[in-house]
Amino acid sequence: MNKLNHLLTELELLKKEGRYRPLTVWDSAADTWMELGCRRILQLSSNNYLGLTNHPDMKKAAIEAIEEYGVGSGSVRTITGTLRIHEVLEQELAAFKGTEAALVFQSGFTTNQGILGSMLGQEDIVISDELNHASIIDGIRLTKANRAIFAHKNLDQLEEHLKASGSYRSRVVVTDGVFSMDGDIAPLPEIVELAERYDAIVYVDDAHASGVLGRNGKGSADHFNLHGRVHIQVGTLSKAIGAVGGYMAGSQLLKDFLIHKARPFLFSTSQPPAVAATCLAAIRVLQSSSDRMERLWSNTEYFRGKVRSLGFDTGQSETPIIPIIVGTPEKTMQFSDRLLQEGIFAQGIVYPTVALDKGRVRLIITANHTIEDLDFALDRLELAGKQFGLL
Ligand SMILES: *Cc1c(COP(=O)(O)O)cnc(C)c1O
Repeated sequence: MNKLNHLLTELELLKKEGRYRPLTVWDSAADTWMELGCRRILQLSSNNYLGLTNHPDMKKAAIEAIEEYGVGSGSVRTITGTLRIHEVLEQELAAFKGTEAALVFQSGFTTNQGILGSMLGQEDIVISDELNHASIIDGIRLTKANRAIFAHKNLDQLEEHLKASGSYRSRVVVTDGVFSMDGDIAPLPEIVELAERYDAIVYVDDAHASGVLGRNGKGSADHFNLHGRVHIQVGTLSKAIGAVGGYMAGSQLLKDFLIHKARPFLFSTSQPPAVAATCLAAIRVLQSSSDRMERLWSNTEYFRGKVRSLGFDTGQSETPIIPIIVGTPEKTMQFSDRLLQEGIFAQGIVYPTVALDKGRVRLIITANHTIEDLDFALDRLELAGKQFGLL
């Protein structure tokens, strides 16, 4: 008897539902065109919004940091794993975000786990948008805090939960800044107003907003001019910033607390120095010029306008994340496969990540796509869209 047979059963189920996927193994660097075996494929599903993964300043920073500090940090942050480069990165992140302090974690995922998992107890309540990212959901699972979920961006439901939460020690409203499956933006001004009325803490996860929204990519609080009114901002260094890591931007008090209590910070080794140096270089690139962000947004407007005028359903998209709604899981994965045959990588996203009939390919436009790239994609999408009865 194989003791892991139940895993096989679950995998068989995924296969039956058309959701079993081997990993796609790319043969070149993360870029707009990537090699897949001997084919060149136009990448439309990477989070490399600003094209920074290959930026010469960042590569140089990484190489120099390796020469100076070696390849590993040697320990968790609280023992010997805080190098000067980590400290400088945090100072510049706080200055960039306009907050008192910033604290860097190994990833956006561990940032949410570290903060949510440590700051809340059974006297508290966390109120969360139903479409929040898995790392927020898992972070909440780590706490003994009470939970309430509101329907996606439903402010009435949020208010009902806030109204009913008066007896708790603290109330925390958690939302993604940009939602990763639909590319829509959280109604942050309204959330902040409600939170102020009911004395709640506002927690925004800006993973898809870092480097995308706000002046020079400062995120959704800056985008909506809510300075000082969002208590906890989480950013990622793994998407637009082009390397890997996550951070909290907020108060010095919260930072001090997390240094002592956040478990990924205490029990998992810190970012390698080359990664910290790369992130620092990226923040400097962002601050030195807004050219990349301008290209990101002009590409996005161009592409979304054309996709919509072809007749595709792009849902609620208002950012460079542009879903094309296809339908059932089977049809969605077939559409994605068809596009790959045509030379485009467009990740299929299906139930249970999204509703059963709302399977979609999720496209992400970047600053480095050229108009020719986008026109090529539009041409192929039109062809495949007609074949699949989407147009
Ligand atoms: C991608 C993402 C994360 C995880 O960030 P990593 O740095 O990749 O771990 C967290 N929250 C949201 C909303 C995300 O989209």
